[in-house]
This record gives sequence, structure tokens and C-alpha cells, in this order.
Amino acid sequence: MDRMSKIAMTTPLVEMDGDEMTRVLWKEIKEKLLAPFVELKTEYYDLGLPYRDQTDDQVTVDAANAIKKYGVGVKCATITPNAQRVEEYKLKQMWKSPNGTIRAILDGTVFRAPIIVKGVNPTVSTWKKPITIARHAYGDIYKDTECYVPAGARAELVVTDADGKESRQLIHAFPGGGVVLGMHNTDASISSFARACFNYALSVGQDLWFSTKDTISKTYDHRFKDLFAEIYENEFRTAFEAAGIEYFYTLIDDAVARVIRSEGGFVWACKNYDGDVMSDMLATAFGSLSMMTSVLVSPDGNYEYEAAHGTVTRHYYRHLKGEETSTNAVATIFAWSGALRKRAELDGLADLAAFADRLEKATIDTIESGVMTKDLVGMSTLPEKKGVNTFEFLDAVAARLAAE
Ligand code: NAP
Ligand code: MG
Repeated sequence: MDRMSKIAMTTPLVEMDGDEMTRVLWKEIKEKLLAPFVELKTEYYDLGLPYRDQTDDQVTVDAANAIKKYGVGVKCATITPNAQRVEEYKLKQMWKSPNGTIRAILDGTVFRAPIIVKGVNPTVSTWKKPITIARHAYGDIYKDTECYVPAGARAELVVTDADGKESRQLIHAFPGGGVVLGMHNTDASISSFARACFNYALSVGQDLWFSTKDTISKTYDHRFKDLFAEIYENEFRTAFEAAGIEYFYTLIDDAVARVIRSEGGFVWACKNYDGDVMSDMLATAFGSLSMMTSVLVSPDGNYEYEAAHGTVTRHYYRHLKGEETSTNAVATIFAWSGALRKRAELDGLADLAAFADRLEKATIDTIESGVMTKDLVGMSTLPEKKGVNTFEFLDAVAARLAAE
């Protein structure tokens, strides 16, 4: 294809590069699958750990603010440093998770959905359509305070109001040692979570399920249930009815049972911890974490697309030693296609939207033709299949794209 016929973009896409094997994939995807077809217009932020360290993590904050400015970002997986990484990369300090930093700035909800291909069948045989998990990305145990309590201690919950008045509730008087935890959430965050979920369900035309444990947690979880119900009645019922979709609340344990019996094809909104656990369960049952996409949607309509998996460290170390790898690039490709499609939608670029569809189709067709990375070979029920390496898979997708 010559340069003149490349698809044009108008607004820059916020591009956030990352670490290790996914950084290798990132460059390859751009070179082989995007640049030959699209005149890529991105604002580039290097979220790879060395540059985060060099900029005292300012680059992560700048990237999040750029998403706020332009509306759409695409992010490569990044290392969340731990003690071992501080040593490995000689870091100035143990920088926070970039995803956590970005989520805190955008205040969003994370939606995760599996990519379905023929031959990779869900473990749950009734599932025919994808199930999207909407995970609340703020508070609860992820921002808790906890401690060990010695024998003989009393733990109390003390709330001091704006006038300095205290109210106290006994949590437990400890005859022996034990543990105690305090956590919180806010009406503002729960409400924006609810709105993000209702809007997302409308945008994909699917029912929304929401589950908590309000029978046991009669104030905390009940607050979530009440805010969802109120926002649904006041702001979304009419639009849901017009779209022919439903909002449905049930207890988390009942939801789990129903999800397993269902056909799929809905959005399941979960509190922070439930969403963390259930998204890994769904990804595994649908096939593989390497086939799970993730999008962060903020209440003011900003979108950040990424793969759900990490930087695939084990493969990267093998790659560095010159050994062959077979790393699945599908979720990272879909992060790009998702971001380009959203950019196209916001800017009214029909040919860019069509390209995003073609890129996804070429990727899925490649796998359904029997060419796939080794993680999928073990799972696929296709009679004819071939496990290829990281680069051969991308070449096969590129060939399909070019042939169209
Ligand atoms: P991971 O990178 O998701 O990889 C865990 C294992 O899952 C891999 O060793 C590999 O199994 C398999 N796997 C994951 N993605 C794959 C793919 N695309 N193709 C083939 N196999 C794939 O998780 P991790 O090893 O726990 O974490 C590595 C780093 O990623 C950490 O530094 C962590 O902080 C970071 N992380 C980042 C994000 C993010 O940026 N969103 C999310 C999670 C983790 P085999 O080795 O058995 O082939
Ligand atoms: Mg998790």
C-alpha cells in the first residue's frame, strides 16, 4: 500500500508504551499491523519502568492527563514494581502501579471482556456469548487500614463528624489476638461506577447485572444497591426500556450461580474485590488471560484500552537469551483496535472504524484458520492447528490484512 492511501487520523491517540515482552509486542504491532495501513497520529508516553524512574513517575501522571485532554488512550502492560524490581532496575523508589495512578486520575470503571474464537471453547459449556465484568476500581479493601490486635484489646469504629462530634461502635473485644480492618467507599465513587455501568450496557446493548452481599452488609453493601437503584430509576430506566435491555440486581452468590447457568451476553457489575476475583475466573473459564481485553471508562467519558494480562516476564527473559517465544499478542492487538475504533467514533472517521474491524477480523480469522500461539494450541479443538512463534503469528495476521 502506498503512503497516500493510508487512513488518516484527526485527533491524537494517547499511546502509552510499557515493559518487557509486551513492549516487544507493542513495537511489532505498530510496525506490522498499524503503520502500513494507518497514518498513525499518537501522543507517545513511555511508561516503561526505566523512564518512569527517570521522571519520578511524572510521565504516568502526564499520560493520564493527556487521556483527559484527548479522550482516548491505549496502554501497553507495565511492571508494577516490588522489592525484587527495585533491585533489578536499580529504582529510586518502589513506584506505584501505573494503572492505579491512571485510575485515580480518571476515576473510572474497568470493563473486561473475553475475545471469543472458534475452537477455544469456554469450560462452561452453556456460555455462547462473552460476559463482560465491570469492576469498581475504587476503595474497599484496596484502600483499607488494617492491623493485628493483641489479646485483651477492644477495637472500635470511631467516626468524627464535621463538628467534631464522635460516634463509636464496638467492633470486637478480643479475648485472644486477632485482626481488624477498616475500609470505605464514597457516594460519589459508587454513583460514578453505577453511571459508567449503565452507560456501558446501553452502548453495547446488553443487560446489566449487579451483585453485592447486602443481606449481610446491611449498610455498606446496601448503599451500593440503593444508589444503583436510584440512579437507574431517575436517569436510565427510560433508555433501557427503549433499548430493550434490563437492569437486574441480585446477591453475589446467586449471581455466581446464574452466571454459570447463563448463555452469556451481559455486563456483570461487581464491587472491587468481587471484580478482581471474578474477572480471573471468567478469563480462565473463557479460555485464557491472553484473550481478555480491558477498558477503563471514566464518568466524564474518557477511555483507556489495554490487555488484561501483564508484561509476560517469563517469556521476556527467554527472548533476551535469544530463545524462541510464543507470546499471544491478541489482547494487545484488540487494545489498539478498541482505541482506534473509539477515536474513529468520536472523530467521525468511518474508514478508521472499518480498519479496526478488519484488524480484529484478520486476527480472529488467523486463529480460526489454525495458526495460533502455543498457549492456544493446547486448548483449541480445531482438527488442523499449528503453534507458531510470537513473530510468525503477527506476520500471519499482517498477511491477511494486506490481502484484503
Ligand atoms: P503475566 O504477565 O500476565 O503472565 C503470567 C503468565 O501467564 C505468563 O508467564 C504466561 O504463562 C501467561 N501469559 C500471560 N499473558 C500471556 C500472553 N499474552 N501470551 C502467552 N502467555 C501469557 O503476569 P505476571 O507474570 O504475574 O506479571 C508480570 C508483570 O506484569 C509484573 O511485573 C506485573 O506487575 C505486571 N502486570 C501488569 C499488568 C498491567 O499492566 N495491566 C497486569 C498484570 C501484571 P507461561 O509462562 O506459563 O507461558
Ligand atoms: Mg487480580
